[in-house]
Parts: sequence; structure tokens; C-alpha cells
Amino acid sequence: MAIKRILIANRGEIALRILRAAHEMGIETVAVHSTADADAMHVRLATNAVCIGPPAAKDSYLNIAAIISAAEITGADAIHPGYGFLSENARFAEIVEAHGITWIGPKPEHIRTMGDKVTAKKTAGELGLPLVPGSTGAVSDFDEARAIAAEIGYPVIIKAASGGGGRGMKVCERPEDLETLMQQAGSEAKAAFGDATVYIEKYLGNPRHIEFQIFGDGKGEAIHLGERDCSLQRRHQKVLEEAPSPVITPEERARMGGIVARAMADMSYRGAGTIEFLWEKGEFYFIEMNTRLQVEHPVTEAITGMDLVREQIRIADGRPLSVKQEDIEFRGHAIECRINAEDPWTFAPSPGLVENYHASGGLHVRVDSGLYAGYRIPPYYDSMIAKLIVYGRTREGCIMRLKRALEEMVIEGPKTSIPLHQALLQEPDFRSGDYTIKWLEEWLAKK
Ligand code: ADP
Repeated sequence: MAIKRILIANRGEIALRILRAAHEMGIETVAVHSTADADAMHVRLATNAVCIGPPAAKDSYLNIAAIISAAEITGADAIHPGYGFLSENARFAEIVEAHGITWIGPKPEHIRTMGDKVTAKKTAGELGLPLVPGSTGAVSDFDEARAIAAEIGYPVIIKAASGGGGRGMKVCERPEDLETLMQQAGSEAKAAFGDATVYIEKYLGNPRHIEFQIFGDGKGEAIHLGERDCSLQRRHQKVLEEAPSPVITPEERARMGGIVARAMADMSYRGAGTIEFLWEKGEFYFIEMNTRLQVEHPVTEAITGMDLVREQIRIADGRPLSVKQEDIEFRGHAIECRINAEDPWTFAPSPGLVENYHASGGLHVRVDSGLYAGYRIPPYYDSMIAKLIVYGRTREGCIMRLKRALEEMVIEGPKTSIPLHQALLQEPDFRSGDYTIKWLEEWLAKK
């Protein structure tokens, strides 16, 4: 292994996740942190730590110059960006490589192509992935928009080309609202992402969100690690994820996984990636690709037995994929609960002092978290403070174990989303796997 010291350009549970994989490979780590994170667990456990700026992410975790300087000072020879922050910033990837530092991520040109949803959709179509019916590119002209919407039929969804994190989308039910909503979507996208480009898609009535995990070696080989079902969402943000999806048969997994892996092989994709689809009435529709590790990657690790971060590091080091498609077996069932520091019903953020903390344990229970008793959750960042990932031989067994593990978890001080997950597990629709992307919000509205 040529890589000796990885700088982790992230914080929280994902910084720890990367650190653990690196240390198990005999690789040292460099934690970078804002002044607000000086007491964070990833800072304590890393081989080296460098403070890179004040709390605001733009001055620290998004501060490219400070991160590159930290890598140079500490002699880091590789950078792992985690998810969020700079992970899908093609410019950052280029700068890292220009400094002779190994970028643990996809080729910058692929990050750029897939980061723009319009070019991503075009590329996916060319690679043979099924698309949501809609405009073939950006739409700026209202007459054109009206013609497209009339052809695909209402409702339609207007999406920002640079959108992300569930933001920059407007659903339009009727032709008379199209112009206003397009204008709104464009100006909101401009304000949020600095890019007013929008496109139009058919708004699917009641789909599931099903995504495939892939890996490429950058030289024309690619594999898929099956799907994750991330349909339980609130405001287009994932709340609980599972693998495999309750609705996908082994034959369908092999068929669609094969299509996806071939597409990635054709583009000589390098590293980890996720192809997201909406799934309705047995059909898949590509929505976007994420060119990074995902929050929900542990459910895939649980059912395949693979360490996805280790695989990322190996590929960045120029090694071949560690497994062949025919050697990958999908075994059992895994569910991840995202635990946020927030009111479980109003979703109001609840940062502050963690007075007491006890992580659940036992067979097939994994907690990825930087929490400890006495830790103060800073108010500046994402509210996710822990991920609870549980495995079982069957989905039913997994749910029983998850219920037990949620009961054991102690986080005193901040409010958390644990009660939400506990209530969800009681729901017959959840227990039978009968839910779509609309289900959670409808259920919350009735509560
Ligand atoms: P982001 O990058 O913000 O996550 P996505 O394109 O992945 O945006 O979409 C996020 C979520 O928005 C999807 O999981 C789904 O719930 C909803 N969504 C997106 N496109 C459509 C569509 N055409 N029809 C219905 N729902 C959609």
C-alpha cells in the first residue's frame, strides 16, 4: 500500500468511520477540525489533528486552502472527503491531485458530470439507464416547458440542475401554475446553488426510492453491491434505510445491478458511487448519481460483509477490485436508523450537552457515532449524531433486534429521533415493507 497517511476532510461519525478503516489497514490519519470540534471524537482518535478554522463550515470544513495546508504540514499523502462538505466538489478533487495527493474518490470529470443533474441524466440515458420521462436537458423557455409538461402529463416536478439534499424541487399540478413555479424554482436555485438552471420531469405518484451501490476500478471493471431502499423520507431526506429492498427479487437485483455495473464499467468509473432510482409498478427510473460514499452505506456492508471504505482506499491506491461480481453474496437483512439531535415530532434541532450516553450493543448491532457523555453537540452542523445499524438473518428478525437495540440506546440531554424510529417500527405498513416515499409524511400528518 502506497498510502501511509490519510487526511479526513470531514467530521462526526463519518470521520470516525474512515479513521477506523484506515487504522485497520495500518494507515495513519489526520483529523482536521473547526474550533467548535476541538473536543470531537475523531480529533481524539486520529494520529494527528489540525485546527483549520472557525465554526462556520465555509471557513473550516469547506476551506480548501486550509485543508491542503493541513495535508502538507502533516505529510498526508491522501485525502478522504467523506460525504457532504467537499465530497462532490470536482474542483477540490482536482486541487488535491494537483498537489500530488491521492484523492480517495472518483475522477474529477465524473464528479463534475454527475454533479450537474441535467448532464447526469443525459449521461445516464446514453449509458442505457432508464430515465424518468421529461425534458432532455435544461428548460428555460415557458412554451417549451408547457409543451413538455403536456406531453408527459401533469403533475410534473421542476428540479434545479445543481440541486441537492432534497432542495430545489417544485411539484406542479396544473398548466396554469407552470410559469410561476418555474420562475420560483429558478430564483430559489440561483439563491441556494448559484445556478438558476432547471429541468422538468414527470412527477411519479407513489414511488419507492431504490438505489444501487457500485464500485469501479477506474480502468473498465465495475461491480454492484445490490440495492438499498431509502423510501422512508421526510422533506426528501432519508430517515431509515434498509437492504435489501422488501420489493426487489433476486432476479430483479441481478438484472438491474448488471445494467448499472455495465454502465459504470463503460464510463471507467473509479471508486464508490450510488445510482439512485425511483421505482414504481416494477419499473426503475434513474434520478441521480452520487459520486461518493453514502450515509447509508453500512446496510450494504452488513449484507455483503464488505468494508466499503477499505475498498475505496484500495481503489485510490491503484489496486483492483477486491471481489468479483460472482463472489458477492447477499445475505440476511439490515436496517439503519439515522438518529438526529432534534425533537422527534416537530424536528426542531436540539444541540447541546450530552449528559449521559450508552450505545446499544450485542450481536449484529453497530453504532456509528462520535458521541460520548460530556460531549457538547455544536449547533453549526448537520443534526445527525448517530447511526444505528442492525442485521438479522430475516427482515422480521432484523426488526425485532432493532426494536431491542433502540430500547437500549441512552442519549440524555438533547432530544433525539429515537422515539420516532420506535413508533415507526410498530407500524403494520413498515413491518410488512409496504411503504413508498410519501408514506412517512402522510403518517406524520396523521399523528
Ligand atoms: P437530491 O439530490 O436533492 O437528493 P433527488 O433527485 O435525489 O434530489 O430527489 C430526492 C427525492 O425527491 C427522491 O428520493 C424523491 O423522494 C423525490 N423526487 C425526485 N424526483 C421525483 C420525481 N420525478 N417524482 C416524484 N418524486 C421525486
